[in-house]
Amino acid sequence: MNKKTIRDVDASCKRVLVRVDFNVPMEDGQITDDTRIWAALPTINYLREAGALVILCAHLGRPKGQIVPEYSLAPVAVRLSELLDDEVAFVSDCLGEQVTEAVAGAAPGDVILLENTRFYSGETSKDEAEMLAFAEKLAAPAQMYVNDAFGACHRAHGSTYGVTKFLSPCVAGLLVEKEVTKLQQVLDADRTGFVAVLGGAKVSDKIGVIEQLLPRVGSLLIGGAMAWAFFKARGMEVGESLCTEESVAGAQQLIDSMGSYLDRMVLPVDVHMKNVVTGETKYAPADGIEPGWDALDIGPETRAQYAEVIRGAKLVFWNGPMGYFEEPPFDEGTLAVAKAMGECSGYNVVGGGDSGYNVVGGGDSVAAITQMGLADQMDHVSTGGGASLEFIENNGILPAVKVLDDKG
Ligand code: ADP
Ligand code: MG
Repeated sequence: MNKKTIRDVDASCKRVLVRVDFNVPMEDGQITDDTRIWAALPTINYLREAGALVILCAHLGRPKGQIVPEYSLAPVAVRLSELLDDEVAFVSDCLGEQVTEAVAGAAPGDVILLENTRFYSGETSKDEAEMLAFAEKLAAPAQMYVNDAFGACHRAHGSTYGVTKFLSPCVAGLLVEKEVTKLQQVLDADRTGFVAVLGGAKVSDKIGVIEQLLPRVGSLLIGGAMAWAFFKARGMEVGESLCTEESVAGAQQLIDSMGSYLDRMVLPVDVHMKNVVTGETKYAPADGIEPGWDALDIGPETRAQYAEVIRGAKLVFWNGPMGYFEEPPFDEGTLAVAKAMGECSGYNVVGGGDSGYNVVGGGDSVAAITQMGLADQMDHVSTGGGASLEFIENNGILPAVKVLDDKG
């Protein structure tokens, strides 16, 4: 990575503002998945050991500039304190006197967590002056800035972008460094043996990603409801399947613009569908979807075909589930892809050896492999869904990473 990291600076006795990604899923005030908190620990521990006073800031959910108690980071402070096995001082505001007092009362090595930055409208404001005014106040108690919130790096917000105008140095944390390095390897990979797998709900979300990937890959395997948009654009029947007009327009745009690269795109040859009236389920060839039926997953022939391509790949990048995985048996396509990724046997272009190399990005795809217990089979599982896609789409540039100090 061409950006400075916490290893390139002296944080000893400095008050360091650290933007982390603590946007964890919650139900009834309980954290249901603490992966993102774990992911921030290496940077927090590194800075503490270096003798820094660590001031953490983060957002949770979309409170839209209002104080919404259910989006308080207080439960995250409790969980973080458990994981660090040490005290974490929680401040119920991210600006102002309470913060000044907490910082004044803290010592090098201490950890403070500030309340949700999105309780202020300035954090996400499109009015640059308002965003910067917020950022200046957020930066005020600190002497240095670290961004370790990979999942928020595709946003030029007050805490990810604005603060860099008021603090120096501004460097990357260890998670941001790891994510950027791993995803850059995907962009730099040799085309031979590079397989991308894209699924999920809508083509329209991923047009830019498909445009970047098609010229780079050997094959692009398409699954999920996204496939039906390509079917429909080609005049095929999709019955009651999830297929928005926007997605069909997106598919058409790609068909019109990608020329011979389209030969690398592989669509399902069969589907697993459900009758919307009777609930009966059956397999059908791709051109056999009938009115009244909802195609919810790829079929067994497609599963086998995709699995074989993936097993022989040197590098696989996967985003988006192959079907409606939340409702078994429509998780079978996603499971087949996840398993095949674990069995990937081509020469590992990144680390050497014959285990292939695989990277998973995207919120729901990561949830799927975690739910299936297969996350540890992957070489890299991105903590940032939107950010990992935007990284690919923008050819390796993320607004909040771009503004960090350059190396050298
Ligand atoms: P990601 O978050 O991994 O980028 P998306 O958000 O694009 O993925 O899409 C994930 C959602 O798409 C999941 O909720 C999944 O159930 C749904 N989905 C995928 N295929 C189908 C399908 N054939 N029919 C209905 N829903 C589908
Ligand atoms: Mg999603």
